[in-house]
Amino acid sequence: MGKPTGFLEYPRELPLTRQPQERIHDWAEFHAHGSEELLKKQGARCMDCGVPFCHTGTLLEGMASGCPVNNLIPEWNDLVYRGLWKEAIERLHKTNNFPEFTGRVCPAPCEGSCVLGINEPPVTIKTIECEIVDRAFKEGWIQPEPPPFRTGRNVAVVGSGPAGLAAAAQLNKAGHWVTVFERADRIGGLLMYGIPNMKLDKNAIVQRRVRLLEEEGVKFVTKCEVGKDLPAEKLIADYDAVVLAGGATKPRDLPMEGRNLKGIHFAMDFLTANTKSLLDSDLKDGQYTSAKGKDVVVIGGGDTGTDCVATSMRHQCRSLVQFEILPKPPMERAPDNPWPQWPKVYKMDYGQEEASAIFGDDPRQYLIHTKKFVGDANGHVKELHTVRIEWAKDNGRFVMKEVPGSERVLPAQLVLLAMGFLGPEDLLLQKLGVERDPRTNVKAEHGKFQTSIANVFAAGDMRRGQSLVVWAINEGRGAARECDRFLMGETVLP
Ligand SMILES: Cc1cc2nc3c(=O)[nH]c(=O)nc-3n(C[C@H](O)[C@H](O)[C@H](O)COP(=O)(O)OP(=O)(O)OC[C@H]3O[C@@H](n4cnc5c(N)ncnc54)[C@H](O)[C@@H]3O)c2cc1C
Ligand code: SF4
Repeated sequence: MGKPTGFLEYPRELPLTRQPQERIHDWAEFHAHGSEELLKKQGARCMDCGVPFCHTGTLLEGMASGCPVNNLIPEWNDLVYRGLWKEAIERLHKTNNFPEFTGRVCPAPCEGSCVLGINEPPVTIKTIECEIVDRAFKEGWIQPEPPPFRTGRNVAVVGSGPAGLAAAAQLNKAGHWVTVFERADRIGGLLMYGIPNMKLDKNAIVQRRVRLLEEEGVKFVTKCEVGKDLPAEKLIADYDAVVLAGGATKPRDLPMEGRNLKGIHFAMDFLTANTKSLLDSDLKDGQYTSAKGKDVVVIGGGDTGTDCVATSMRHQCRSLVQFEILPKPPMERAPDNPWPQWPKVYKMDYGQEEASAIFGDDPRQYLIHTKKFVGDANGHVKELHTVRIEWAKDNGRFVMKEVPGSERVLPAQLVLLAMGFLGPEDLLLQKLGVERDPRTNVKAEHGKFQTSIANVFAAGDMRRGQSLVVWAINEGRGAARECDRFLMGETVLP
């Protein structure tokens, strides 16, 4: 620890993000960079704890506590404080293949379990991570590193999200020839088509890493759905091993009266089309659904819902409401949610910040249940009928109860369904005949990642259900390690 009294001297301070009023007029990232002075001070706040909970990556009450890729956080905090940025990126890359992704989109469970967070605002771990890698790219320290030898083994990775990319990076490092198959027209999974450009820049950040992997020897095949364009039997026959990393993209629907009206879309269809049109034509081709001038209702309060809010704000919607089925979280940790658990507290994410700056209030409404959609004469949605609910315990289980007299009607010409995902798609998994778990994910133990077919491994959302980028990286790395062990009898991968 470079400065033992850093946490006493310096308060937590984040670089200023671009102001909502300005940033909703473009699709550029809303993050801003901090000065070297600021970052050094923030690094100095790290206490280099004897037991650094920030890098434990355990599950407490079903939520991550500490960094799931076990980033060596106190080490690089100290290196940043001492101005040793090159050493810091070397340390960061030991555990995380893509810190430029997590440094932008990770909800930072590390910060939730930072020891300083017990009685002070935690260290700005995520910001420091992002600055280390951004600086390393700027300085030219990150260059392609092809493996020094090839094993002659061929591995196929299905899906190019963070799990597939991490698996590919690690397997390539071990000397195997890796081919990544992606059904979309661009590489990146939800990093490309899911998380919007203002949170993670597609050309500058995602493509840059993909190019680097290509230069290191990874082969990418786009517009190829395995199980359809490439038969499952051929995949098994042509490759020594396979890593399945196809995500969990089956959306949860809201099957009720009026669901088939025009103007009601799954969030992912809305977000994907927007990013594709943005990248293809700067939104000039009209191949997306616009929220411009519309009353928008987003159903679902998670990351996906937030991205729909922020995208609608950039389209210049007329009004915006976001429904959440759960109660509003408390401002401070509740007694049953102690440190180092993930803090379930009220937060404004970037989308709500933007809606609030323009419309004067947080767009989220809690404990709201939609009862039906009503359309106009053209079959287009015009309003939603809702009711307030409360959660009551019945035989030990929480059940939803409607509050009498709380019915409301809201105008809406665009409704976006962002209520989570139900699991992976079936086609390829059925054709392969791979076993599934009770939640329909691919059955494979975390840590082993081997499926019911000996040379087929599974990683990321396809194995654990819809989760986080950082867990996908953890699983991609782990699946690569076990795949390498399977192919070679031993492994040097972490
Ligand atoms: C809108 C949205 C926003 C999110 N925001 C965040 C965030 O801010 N922070 C965070 O940590 N997490 C976020 N998440 C979650 C995170 O993106 C996922 O947990 C993560 O991307 C999972 O990675 P993955 O590699 O397992 O799968 P994915 O990223 O889903 O990638 C799977 C890829 O496999 C491809 N594929 C599937 N089947 C086949 C096939 N048969 N043949 C070829 N290709 C196939 C798909 O096209 C897809 O590109 C968000 C999720 C969504 C939906
Ligand atoms: S990857 Fe996520 S949890 Fe790990 S250090 Fe970075 S922001 Fe924290």
